[in-house]
Amino acid sequence: MAVLLSIDEAQRAVLARVRPLPAERVALGSAAGRVLAAAGRAVVDLPPFPSSAMDGFALRSADTPGSLPVVAEIAAGRPADRPLEPGEAMAISTGAVVPDGADAVVPLEQAAEHDGRITVEQGVKAGAHVRPRGGDVAAGAVVVPLAQRLGPPQIGALAAAGLGEVECARRPLVVVLATGTELRSAGEELSYGEIYESNGPLLAASLRRAGAEVELLPSARDDEAAHRAGIERGLEADVLVTSGGVSVGAHDLVRGVGAELGVEEVFWRVAVKPGKPVWFGVRGRTLVFGLPGNPVSALVGAELFVAPALRALQGVAAPLPVLRPGRLLTALRRSMARDELVRARSRMGEDAVELEPLSGQDSHMIARAAAADVLVLVPRGEGELIAGSAVRYMQI
Ligand code: AMP
Ligand code: MG
Repeated sequence: MAVLLSIDEAQRAVLARVRPLPAERVALGSAAGRVLAAAGRAVVDLPPFPSSAMDGFALRSADTPGSLPVVAEIAAGRPADRPLEPGEAMAISTGAVVPDGADAVVPLEQAAEHDGRITVEQGVKAGAHVRPRGGDVAAGAVVVPLAQRLGPPQIGALAAAGLGEVECARRPLVVVLATGTELRSAGEELSYGEIYESNGPLLAASLRRAGAEVELLPSARDDEAAHRAGIERGLEADVLVTSGGVSVGAHDLVRGVGAELGVEEVFWRVAVKPGKPVWFGVRGRTLVFGLPGNPVSALVGAELFVAPALRALQGVAAPLPVLRPGRLLTALRRSMARDELVRARSRMGEDAVELEPLSGQDSHMIARAAAADVLVLVPRGEGELIAGSAVRYMQI
């Protein structure tokens, strides 16, 4: 039998087939989770003017310590109508413009005020409590770089820097098709031999998190006509993800129907546990992933192969799952032939992230998987990984 591709090799084969999607302009208000296709540059200096960091009094540091008349009151958004003269103070609010002539702000707590004058007991340094113009970022400078996914800090930065719209990669449209005559939707009565369809919702959740727009088709019975209809529909999208029907059983029809519809196979089967029968192909610009039907296999296949492709389609610079170091709490047997992803619960130990493998690692045990927050990578090999072993894990 042919040697199976390793996880790395399969991931490389997938990424080699990705052609990044074109960019579009997106209102900043709907850009969370999107990936920048052009660097976001500041429209203005931030702050746009020298700004007070405190409620207090603007003055000249050279006039402190001392007693000064309060000649004006400056609110945020309402600059003073004249410069500050030597020997004067102006009351000022946080975020208000520090007037020309002033070089420092004394906080309210450090200035005793009565009869329209303040007394400042201590000398104040030039620049104290003044946020200089452009101190956060200068106009024209990059606020958020190309290929960065936009989360709350990036959205806030772009908004503050004056951008109402940004250039983002289009979201990949992903069609998800679950196959299996035994599948029913929640709310339907189960006849004997039937189960509730879980891969569709599972995959939709996983792939949306990777930035996809997901269309979930009704599940397809195990006959060629039903497969053909679903797969044809999916081949119009950027990505088609099927579940089930990619193994060697008599009713496993996905690869055959895919080939008939012009999908060129790139690989079938990877040395990974669970999820070995994973299938990947392309037709034109459409990427096609046939994930195995067992729900944990589908989950692993989505995280290892589909999500990276979706991130790469959006131009993310490092699209592969991040593997972090941790320590195994209990021993694990290794598989001789396949790298394994073991569902586990993580917690912060004294000096390392501790990983506790869950009981019930069979690939159909999706209910057990509900307690997992990570997948631990157990490289193939002889014997077992002893408790305390250094391993790597990915968040799910
Ligand atoms: P298959 O890959 O089609 O041979 O399916 C393998 C196992 O996964 C079988 O026990 C199926 O019943 C189950 N399965 C397949 N698709 C789904 C699905 N969408 N939701 C839940 N279980 C599934
Ligand atoms: Mg099946």
